[in-house]
Amino acid sequence: MPTTSAPDEHLRLEGIGVSFGAVNVIPSLDLSVRKGEMVAFLGPSGCGKTTTLRIIAGLNKPSRGSIMVGGRDITHLPIHDRDMGMVFQSYALFPHMDVSHNVQFGLQMRNVPAREAEKRAAQALEMVQLGHLAHRKPKELSGGQQQRVALARALVIEPSILLLDEPLSNLDAKLRDEMRVQIRALQQQSGITAVFVTHDQVEALSMCDRVVVMRGGHVEQFGTPTEVYERPATAFVANFVGRTNRLKGALTAEGILTGAGQQLRSATRLPAGAVDILVRPHRIRLQETGEADNKVQGTVSTITFIGDLVQYGVSVGGEEIVVEEATRRGRSPLAAGDSVTLGWSAEDTLIYPAGEK
Ligand code: ATP
Repeated sequence: MPTTSAPDEHLRLEGIGVSFGAVNVIPSLDLSVRKGEMVAFLGPSGCGKTTTLRIIAGLNKPSRGSIMVGGRDITHLPIHDRDMGMVFQSYALFPHMDVSHNVQFGLQMRNVPAREAEKRAAQALEMVQLGHLAHRKPKELSGGQQQRVALARALVIEPSILLLDEPLSNLDAKLRDEMRVQIRALQQQSGITAVFVTHDQVEALSMCDRVVVMRGGHVEQFGTPTEVYERPATAFVANFVGRTNRLKGALTAEGILTGAGQQLRSATRLPAGAVDILVRPHRIRLQETGEADNKVQGTVSTITFIGDLVQYGVSVGGEEIVVEEATRRGRSPLAAGDSVTLGWSAEDTLIYPAGEK
């Protein structure tokens, strides 16, 4: 059932459904994206991110529902009339054309006169800091440079919406970090509405205004990065976005919560019953000396150095709790077998009905 649109709404999916033969890949998806915001589709492989993006682009037709852009129904509009720019994981540059002609291509398709197309391509290439490589062929560029050409090619047509499908996944970690910042800066400068497909939570959280966490063709949560991380709507979101401990617990009708063999406190309210208790490893203090909502005794079982972080496995009441601390100079003062007092707050104690995947 369509809801009322927000005044700044730009893109809207209404009851979008996709079936491939008898397989219902997306049952019914509703989504509203504001003008100028960057939204990530985040979720595990096969959850329907690319399918949804291709439907917005017009590369696939939905089996049900409609797509609205600026209040106009574009569900049946062909791709080239949709005014959307796309950047794919593979960049899809034309190998026989130089960089400038790759960028001009979309303009030529739109019958922009040659002189103007050349000028606009040069401006777009300046924007991605590649003006000096305008006459190279794609194979003479690095992965990051090719990625920026693909971005310039998508932006040069001044699309109303920019669609990005895992555009950073072919880059090495350092370049990916740089490109995240660059793409976000370009998107904000141009004020373009953008939809970004990724299975990388860091990418989604760091680049986007809001994140759609998808699972099995439906939306588990749609919120800002902070909302999704700090207040995950489901145990699935908590597990998928960031690392978390998961303890078995129980909640009485009086609101008494037990887990890891002790009474614990949570700021979340739920009906009585079996629950899963989720706590992020870096929200737990390893050697609590002061007051804490939750304070439990445990024994260090493992210590793992992982660069910026040290991960401690701590046995508490028959459960293993992982605690993460920033690496300090020198060796860890703790060793396996040491007793520790873990402490964390009620706010950081998320509870969900037991067994939610
Ligand atoms: P990934 O991160 O692996 O790219 P995704 O979330 O983008 O995954 P989609 O590519 O949208 O997932 O696929 C969603 C589901 O639809 C998958 O189960 C996939 O196998 C199925 N699917 C996609 N395209 C087709 C097709 N043309 N025919 C049949 N099934 C398809």
